[in-house]
Amino acid sequence: MLDRALVDGLFPADLPEPAELEERYPPRDLPDGALVTRFGPSPTGFVHVGGLYTAMVSRDLAHSTGGVYVLRIEDTDQSREVEGADAQFRRAFDAFDLVPDEGDIPAPAGDYGPYHQSARAALYQTHVRELMRRGKAYPDFATKEELAEISDAQRTLKLPTGYYGRWAPWRDAAQEDVQAALDAGKPWVARFRSEGRVGERFAFTDRLRGRVEMEDNHNDVVILKSSDNAIRLPTYHFAHAVDDHLMRTNLVVRTEEWLSSVPTHRQLFDALGFEPVDYAHLAPLMKQEGGSKRKLSKRKDPEASVDFYLEAGFPVPAVQYYLRGLANPRLAEMPLAEALTTPLRLDEFGLAGPLVDTVKLSDISADHIATLSGPDVVAGVRTWAAEYDPEIVKVLDANPELVLAAIDVERVGVENPRKDLAKWSDFREAYGFFFPELFTDVTDPADERFGELDADLVRTVAADLADTYVHEGDQPTWFQQIRDLAHRHGFAPNPKTYKKDPDAYPGMLRDAANVARVAITGAQRSPDLYEVTRALGADEVVRRLRALAG
Ligand code: GLU
Repeated sequence: MLDRALVDGLFPADLPEPAELEERYPPRDLPDGALVTRFGPSPTGFVHVGGLYTAMVSRDLAHSTGGVYVLRIEDTDQSREVEGADAQFRRAFDAFDLVPDEGDIPAPAGDYGPYHQSARAALYQTHVRELMRRGKAYPDFATKEELAEISDAQRTLKLPTGYYGRWAPWRDAAQEDVQAALDAGKPWVARFRSEGRVGERFAFTDRLRGRVEMEDNHNDVVILKSSDNAIRLPTYHFAHAVDDHLMRTNLVVRTEEWLSSVPTHRQLFDALGFEPVDYAHLAPLMKQEGGSKRKLSKRKDPEASVDFYLEAGFPVPAVQYYLRGLANPRLAEMPLAEALTTPLRLDEFGLAGPLVDTVKLSDISADHIATLSGPDVVAGVRTWAAEYDPEIVKVLDANPELVLAAIDVERVGVENPRKDLAKWSDFREAYGFFFPELFTDVTDPADERFGELDADLVRTVAADLADTYVHEGDQPTWFQQIRDLAHRHGFAPNPKTYKKDPDAYPGMLRDAANVARVAITGAQRSPDLYEVTRALGADEVVRRLRALAG
């Protein structure tokens, strides 16, 4: 074991002692069973929907048990650091209602900070020093080349590669050798002195998976990165142990990729004298590709990014409902409001990765929007548009009554309301034609939207309807004028009559009505035309018909 003086000399003199940290971060005063969870994203400049999922699960478990949900930014890998990452997290958490109880984002809040790992260097160093004082960690001066030689030799002997046991040259180095290396100014990392042996087994109980057995750790893992770095930061493994202990986390919810690190983590907790923390390792979100499933990929799948949902404007409750259903399938069977307030249960998570299916999400979302009041739909569109499509905001503000009337078309007083909005960005496409700012008059009678109809006839029909147009009256009365119009211009009243002698007619009633529909809505398919004309008003209907009549 190295002398205390030597060990202490490796660290800044003003580091706190472990006991001081225990006092500064005391156990939390919470009711029995309260879960303290945290979400620990790394600032890579990309917020993955899987991160949102983990955050949602962590927050839900904390809140449903009267506990605390912490956001900790895991920025120990400074080479991967991306500027603006905090702002991105903030945006995503604000948008999806995942604001933490404790953390530096949006503003510092909580007594267990700092909440950026890069600001916690002294806390980690305190504990590395303590492990070294007790002979459970040591400085390692091995160079890259030496490490490569060790693994080459291990491969030749068909032994597991790694830094362990007799293969670890600095594990039991003499005090003089360490001193000489230091005097020579060699950079060093701190390694954990693992007591694990090659081939030993390890088992623990995962809160989601039950008993999990795997190979134990035997490697002397690096716990503190090289003394070459300006700030001395820990590796993920060590930061996890120190942070989750000092933040008094009692349930670590993280994805399955970390499962194989549990043996190392448990050894670290033991060596540090910390009470072990519980784990719930979530299955990752998956994507169906042909006949197989794979992990949702940041590189390949746009829907892996939280921005995808924000830019498209999926309503937040729909996304939350969808994600909750993936977590606990029982919630997908409940009405949305109930599913959003029913606590998630760890024993209801599947062990297979749930599939993210944007078609399903769109259906859920369209169903949800169909239940909203007109003003709520407008508010949703407006909030989204303020960021992603500012022209729509102007349109909404310039036509407040028309907007509400347009949204009510085939939504109010009907059994099956229209579901033409799955996301707020659909508004432009589905409702744009109502508004003068977004509607382009159809002026070309030879336009392909009129099908095979003769251009002169298109013009004549439009002119006739404009001249004779009667706006008032109920739906059947209103539509009778379209029948009369078709009749006046020789259209067949129905397909059957038409098919008997197609040469005798320019088309059928449907084609005549299409002239009106295209002139008024710009499209061959539209919501109920009568209702559309109610929203637009007589003057605008006639104006659009005249634009075509010329
Ligand atoms: N920073 C880790 C990640 O981004 C967090 C893992 C954990 O939650 O412990 O994957």
